[in-house]
Amino acid sequence: MLKLLLSLILTGTLALPVFAAENLSFDQLLNQLTRVEQEIPVAPVAAQASDRAADGRYWVTVKAADKHARTRLLEAGFDIVEIEKGSVSGFAGPDLLGLLSSKSFGVVSKVSMADYAARAKDFPSQDAIYHNYQETYDLLKQLAAANPDIASLFSIGKTVEGRDIWCLRINSSVKGDGPSSKPGAFFMGNLHAREHLTTEVSVLLAAWLLEHRNDADVKKYISTLDIYIAPMANPDGSEFDIKTGSYQYYRKNMAKNAGGSRGVDLNRNFDSWWCESGASTYPGSDTYCGPKAFSEVESQNIKRFFEARRNLKTHITYHSYASEILYPWGGNDADVPEEKDKKAFIKIATEMGKLTNYEPRKSSDMYVATGDSADWAYAATGVLAFTFELEGRGFYPGAAIVKGAVERNIKAAVYLLSVTDNPYKVI
Ligand SMILES: [Zn+2]
Repeated sequence: MLKLLLSLILTGTLALPVFAAENLSFDQLLNQLTRVEQEIPVAPVAAQASDRAADGRYWVTVKAADKHARTRLLEAGFDIVEIEKGSVSGFAGPDLLGLLSSKSFGVVSKVSMADYAARAKDFPSQDAIYHNYQETYDLLKQLAAANPDIASLFSIGKTVEGRDIWCLRINSSVKGDGPSSKPGAFFMGNLHAREHLTTEVSVLLAAWLLEHRNDADVKKYISTLDIYIAPMANPDGSEFDIKTGSYQYYRKNMAKNAGGSRGVDLNRNFDSWWCESGASTYPGSDTYCGPKAFSEVESQNIKRFFEARRNLKTHITYHSYASEILYPWGGNDADVPEEKDKKAFIKIATEMGKLTNYEPRKSSDMYVATGDSADWAYAATGVLAFTFELEGRGFYPGAAIVKGAVERNIKAAVYLLSVTDNPYKVI
């Protein structure tokens, strides 16, 4: 991304300050996001579409009357992206499309990836301001270096391709990965590769908190809480999605599967009713749950992170897109058994919903999908874990959406910090 931006600047196509090497304020970062949208020339649609003509997948709309039908589709390997009244849309390869047709799921329409991409707003040149892996790491390093008394950076472990999963910690008394007895909050982005807006929301939350460290409320949270922000939980997949300069609509990690296919859906790989519903055992599927629970190093790292920090009280895992705030269970129709947890989930999700205009609801009301990270984190460690589905239409909503999404989600994150000392005080 940055390379493209630099080449535009060098060729004189675009006059923009280079941002990655500078210490920019939160407002400068946000303003650049808005300005770039207006200034970067848009690449021709036809050139973008042809890049993906070789992708054998289709954008398919299938009849699905209710969440049970949606769950069965996930199990067949269908990658549900949008839920409409009576139907769902998402990606399917030729094999799955055949299966969907033969099992009379009711295929309403199908569009080739080339045609789908041609109508999507997905131009990497337009999105150059999004932070790729190196730029995210550089910004996290800058933030830690500029706030050495309260911020530190550490890796929660390596990916299957050897990248570090970086985590910025804000804690006034402990640095790095040492233990803390202060109540903790953990914000995680980009578990799904193509959901790049989640990286922006996470990394800019870190920038905002540190810049506002002397605001009365933020100051209190920083001195009394243990705050972690990991903007890219699946950096291999995220980099793969953008490395050709043309989006790949890629969701999974980069594991090499038996049989030659690629990737496990990390948000189906956690040990919470693993692979029972709403996940696929077919390795080529976008909802492939992996050969066993926690088969993937990325999910193992996240597991260890939670297990080593029993002081964590609250958690948001950011996904996109649906404008929803989801709370457990996702893998089971039932409500969580603890009444006080259920009340706290509903109350906190409702408050965060008011701040974001997102809809709060139980995750399994959308569809039942087992093996997700939020269910596991809550069940295994008791942390109140929320899944945010950020706003926007499509995985690549452009640069202009970032500012509003970041501003709204900072409000929700700050609210979550305000209850992290004792989440049950809200009920
Ligand atoms: Zn996701």
